[in-house]
Amino acid sequence: MHEYLRYLYRASFVVPGYGPVIADGAVLTEDGQVTAVGAYADLKGVDAQVEEYEGYVITPAMVNCHAHLELSHLAGLAGDAPTSGDMTGWIRGLLAAQAEIDDPEIICDAARLALARLYAGGCRAVADIGNRPESLFLGEGFKSEVFFFLEMLGLCGASEEAALAALAGIEGDRRCTAHAPYSAGPRLIRALKDRALAGKSLFTLHVAESAQEIEFLHTGSGPFADFLGERGVEVASFTAPGLGAIAYLDSLGVLDAQTLCVHTVQVEDEEISLLAARGAAVCLCPGSNRFMGVGTAPVEKMLAHGIPLVLGTDSLASNPNLSLWREMQILRQEHPALPPEAVFAMASSNGARLLGISARLGVIAPGVCSSLPVVRCPAKNEAEVFDYLTSAGADIKLEWLE
Ligand SMILES: [Zn+2]
Repeated sequence: MHEYLRYLYRASFVVPGYGPVIADGAVLTEDGQVTAVGAYADLKGVDAQVEEYEGYVITPAMVNCHAHLELSHLAGLAGDAPTSGDMTGWIRGLLAAQAEIDDPEIICDAARLALARLYAGGCRAVADIGNRPESLFLGEGFKSEVFFFLEMLGLCGASEEAALAALAGIEGDRRCTAHAPYSAGPRLIRALKDRALAGKSLFTLHVAESAQEIEFLHTGSGPFADFLGERGVEVASFTAPGLGAIAYLDSLGVLDAQTLCVHTVQVEDEEISLLAARGAAVCLCPGSNRFMGVGTAPVEKMLAHGIPLVLGTDSLASNPNLSLWREMQILRQEHPALPPEAVFAMASSNGARLLGISARLGVIAPGVCSSLPVVRCPAKNEAEVFDYLTSAGADIKLEWLE
């Protein structure tokens, strides 16, 4: 019996993740890697076992650039949406729920189930943010790669000092990051950015998510000041920068091509220009933003400025569903003028590039991992493929090639 080492997967369409959609396309794989991609007519002469996927599209693996897997056990919180835009109210609920359930086994099981669901949805890499050091190991044994970032908080006074001291004691190869400009002080943000630069790592933080955050940064008062005071933070010793969140981060010198601003909803036009000038990337979280009622990011303007845009689901505590297909669908509903191929890139190739893993996933090119999603697709022609992939949401049915 002839033992095939090569497989030629033929599908109605192949989306390489760069260049045009290939109708009647094919992907040649060998030993776990893609070795060629192109029209079936050009590859059919190769000695390989042919697998046919008529009515399907082979796509690159997806990349989720913002999640909190360790909050997956709090999925119930995403049942009823909070009062529109009330971030502090939601955070109070989150902290109360966390205090109620602190069984490490429950937390770990829910996180791994969430990761399994992400994989089932075509996602092969996740930028995962957490406060529990043990979350570093959540991805062990999974095909989806987990890039874990230990998130630090400490706005001012004793809390910022304590975070800086804790940071100094963390092994150098661990990725650490700041929570947000309203919860991490300027010294802590700079120290974390310096550490990320030294480790050639991405620096990712929540930025400009709510109007409440911007009010706090401008005035030092409002719902966030009240909330932080309740938590024992010496808010009075925090000097409000009097700037928007992006302008503030720029004043700290932490915006560059290895900075990923997550959410970035409440931004001024000048701040969009600043992001573009610094080369910083933005992770859109449309599902979480919709749930929280914090508004929608100025995506068209960001895209027009050439800002690298990626997608994240955020956590099950602020998003009923961890699916990049649904994130794309929401983005298209809210921004119908966006080109579907640009939206698809946000869920795949852009994230892979940002995480430095383009050589193995996020596109279909020689050398990438041959474990690729194959998606049922009713598209009649190339033009309909991206439209379907980015608008079908929960209707997407996929399996993995290998
Ligand atoms: Zn988040």
